[in-house]
Amino acid sequence: MAGRTQQASVQSPEATDSTMNCEVLVVGAGPVGLLTMLLLAKAGIDVVLVEALPDVDNSPRAMAYGPAAVIELERAGVAADARSIGMDEEDHNLRLRWINVDNQVIGEFRPEDRIPGSFDPVICGQFELAKILKRHATGYPNARILFEHSITDITEARDGHSVTATVATPTGTRTISAQYLAGCDGGRSTVRKLLGLSYDGFTIPQWLVACNVRYPFEQHGYKRSQFIVDPDHFCLIGRIDPSGLWRVSYAEREDLTREEVLANVHAKFAAIFPRGPKPLSKDDYQIEMVSPYRIHQRSAPSYRKGRSLLAGDAAHACAPFGGMGLTTGICDAAGLADTLIGVLRHLDRDNPNHPSPDVLLDKYADIRRQKYHDVTHKVSYGNTCRLRECSPDPEKAVQEDEFFRTINSGSDARRKLLESAYILGHDFKQYWPTQAVEKL
Ligand SMILES: Cc1cc2nc3c(=O)[nH]c(=O)nc-3n(C[C@H](O)[C@H](O)[C@H](O)COP(=O)(O)OP(=O)(O)OC[C@H]3O[C@@H](n4cnc5c(N)ncnc54)[C@H](O)[C@@H]3O)c2cc1C
Repeated sequence: MAGRTQQASVQSPEATDSTMNCEVLVVGAGPVGLLTMLLLAKAGIDVVLVEALPDVDNSPRAMAYGPAAVIELERAGVAADARSIGMDEEDHNLRLRWINVDNQVIGEFRPEDRIPGSFDPVICGQFELAKILKRHATGYPNARILFEHSITDITEARDGHSVTATVATPTGTRTISAQYLAGCDGGRSTVRKLLGLSYDGFTIPQWLVACNVRYPFEQHGYKRSQFIVDPDHFCLIGRIDPSGLWRVSYAEREDLTREEVLANVHAKFAAIFPRGPKPLSKDDYQIEMVSPYRIHQRSAPSYRKGRSLLAGDAAHACAPFGGMGLTTGICDAAGLADTLIGVLRHLDRDNPNHPSPDVLLDKYADIRRQKYHDVTHKVSYGNTCRLRECSPDPEKAVQEDEFFRTINSGSDARRKLLESAYILGHDFKQYWPTQAVEKL
C-alpha cells in the first residue's frame, strides 16, 4: 500500500460517469462489505463498493469478535490496528464473565484457558473497525468506494455473464455492471429483497438498548467484559476502549414505546450498575450514545441467486449477546472473497478437471447458511435465553444450565468450549483447483 493516496479511490457522485464496469460490485460499507472489498482488492480484483450513506455508519453496535473472525482480521492485515484502538496490553488476556447484579461470578473464561498459539482477542468498536477497513481498502487503485450510492434494482444479463445494478445518487441514477454482486447491505438489505429472498425466523419480544457510557465500573470490581444474568435486567457490560468508554447493552420490555425506552435509561442504570453506598445519580455517569434496537433470529433461505450473493446481516441476524453477528459476517466476508477469487482467478473454463463456477458459489451459499443455523443461531439465542432465564444465584445456575456446569468444571473443559468457537470459520480455498492452492 505504500505510496498510494488513500482518498484517491473514494469518489464523490459528481466525479463519476453514469455507467461503470467492474469484476465485483459490493453493496454496503459496513464491516462485512468493506472486508469483502479489501480481500478482493488484495487479490487484484477490480471491485466497486456502493454505500447509501455519506460515510460509514457510527451507530453503537459490535465491539468484540470471536476467534474465527480474528483469524480473518489477521489475514486481512487489520487486527493489529483494531487492537491498538480498542485494547491496552492487559486486555490481550481474555477474561469473560457471567455474573449477577451483585457481581457474584456464575462462570468465567480465564487467561489460563487460552488455547496455546491462538491469536490475541480483538476488541474494537464496529465504527472504528469499519474505518480501519475503509482506510486499508482505499489504498488499492483497483478498489473504489462510492458513498451516497443506494442500490435500487438488479438485473442479470440474458447471456448470464453479468449482473447490472441501478444505483440512486444525489446527482441522478447510474448503472454499474459486474460479473458478481455481493449484497452486504445489512439487516434491511435491499439486495435480498430485490432477489426476492425472505428473511425467515422470529423477532425476540424485547428491546435491546445499546448505550456507550462513561462510568468507573473497574472501581467496583468489574472486568473488561461481563454478562449479567437476571430475569429483568440481563445485559452485557464491557469496556469498549482504554479511554474508559463502556458499552452497556440491556433488554427492555417490548410493549414500551421508543420514547419510553429512552426515558427509562436512568432507572435501568440504577438497577444494573454496581452499587456504591449511595443511590446512582445522573451525575455519576456520562452517556455518549443510546440506541434501542429490535433483535431478530433470522436467515435468508438461500445466500445466492444467480450472480448475486449475500453476506453478513443481509443474509442473517442474531441477538448480540455472545458477539456472534459480525463474527459470522466476518467469516462470510472471508469465505465470499475466497470464493470469488477462486472463480475469477483460478478456474479455467477450458480445463475439464476444473469445477464450474456454480459449484464454488453454491458451496459458499450452502456452507455459510448451515453455519448460521448450526452455530450462530444456537449460540446467540442460547446465550440470550441463559441470561434471561437462568437463576442469578450461582449455585442454582450451575444446577440448571449445562453451559455453566461445563465452564465451572475446569480449564480443560473451558478450553474445549473455546476451541469449538473456531467451527464458525470455513476455508473456501480448498475448493479452488489444486494447483492454485499449491501456489499460495
Ligand atoms: C447493540 C449491538 C451490539 C452488537 N455487538 C456485536 C458484537 O460485539 N460482536 C459481533 O460480532 N456482532 C455484534 N453485533 C452485530 C453486528 O453489529 C452486525 O452483525 C453488523 O453490523 C453486520 O455488519 P454488516 O456489514 O453485515 O451490516 P451493516 O453494518 O448493517 O452495514 C450495512 C451497510 O449497508 C448500507 N446499505 C443499506 N442499504 C443500502 C442500499 N440500498 N444501497 C447501498 N448501501 C446500503 C448501510 O447504510 C450500511 O452501511 C451487535 C449488534 C447490535 C445491534
